[in-house]
Amino acid sequence: MGLRRGKRRQDEHDAVPGPDGGAAVQLTGVRRQYGRGASAVHALRGIDLALPHGSFTAVMGPSGSGKSTFLQCAAGLDRPNAGSVRLGGTEITGMSENKLTALRRTRLGFVFQAFNLLPSLTVEQNVVLPMRLAGRRPDRRRAAEVLGQVGLADKGRRRPAELSGGQQQRVAIARALVTQPDVVFADEPTGALDTTTAAEVLALLRSAVDGLGATVVMVTHDPAAAAYADRVLFLADGSIADSLPRSTSAQIAARMTTLTAPSYAGAAA
Ligand code: ADP
Ligand code: MG
Repeated sequence: MGLRRGKRRQDEHDAVPGPDGGAAVQLTGVRRQYGRGASAVHALRGIDLALPHGSFTAVMGPSGSGKSTFLQCAAGLDRPNAGSVRLGGTEITGMSENKLTALRRTRLGFVFQAFNLLPSLTVEQNVVLPMRLAGRRPDRRRAAEVLGQVGLADKGRRRPAELSGGQQQRVAIARALVTQPDVVFADEPTGALDTTTAAEVLALLRSAVDGLGATVVMVTHDPAAAAYADRVLFLADGSIADSLPRSTSAQIAARMTTLTAPSYAGAAA
């Protein structure tokens, strides 16, 4: 599916650009631990990275390596114990809960494994939800535009339950893109989909990056999904253990195997 960049809209995040530095997402020395003392679990042990605007990054790693904690900290859903997170040039470390919530609603998009659509709302109402939650007037023209971009122009009046799993995830992607966010965070977005449908959803995320200039950060355990990304980051025991430029799923799977070797299994359990 070929996405074309829509007319750039003059909304609040265009009006107040942060000191950007070129990165959509920047983490510096991010640490997150659960508990204290001898029983502390170090979920993130000092993460440094900068993800450029218009990039597609996959985050992989064994179970317990810190992928979910990374995504939560990077998306302002969890607070690191140390270090800083900048999103679209805005420092979010120390931001009040209210400001963080507003920032998430206007400047971030989220796509989850379980779609997380509201069943009682129509597809169109689901898509404009981020606008309503941000206290803005739901823009139906924008909803139609973004539904067209994900190939669901004729489904706006349906309920989620009337759509296939792949179509529901495309609605979720439309909802994530509707505010033209700085970053879309996707947590196992193809985890509930069959291989063919997963490939369609991944191609859609890819074309959102290539055609709309979106920035996508996707956690996945699937090398075939990670093969759509420009860069694959490998977490092991709370640290970035490795990174690959765009690679085939076979290359990614081979790298995963070295991370899940017995020497890592103990540390990551
Ligand atoms: P992944 O998503 O890669 O499986 P997580 O980020 O969920 O890894 O977890 C990283 C580490 O932090 C694991 O050792 C996990 O048990 C621990 N952890 C995650 N959340 C909590 C929590 N709320 N309380 C205590 N430990 C946690
Ligand atoms: Mg996880």
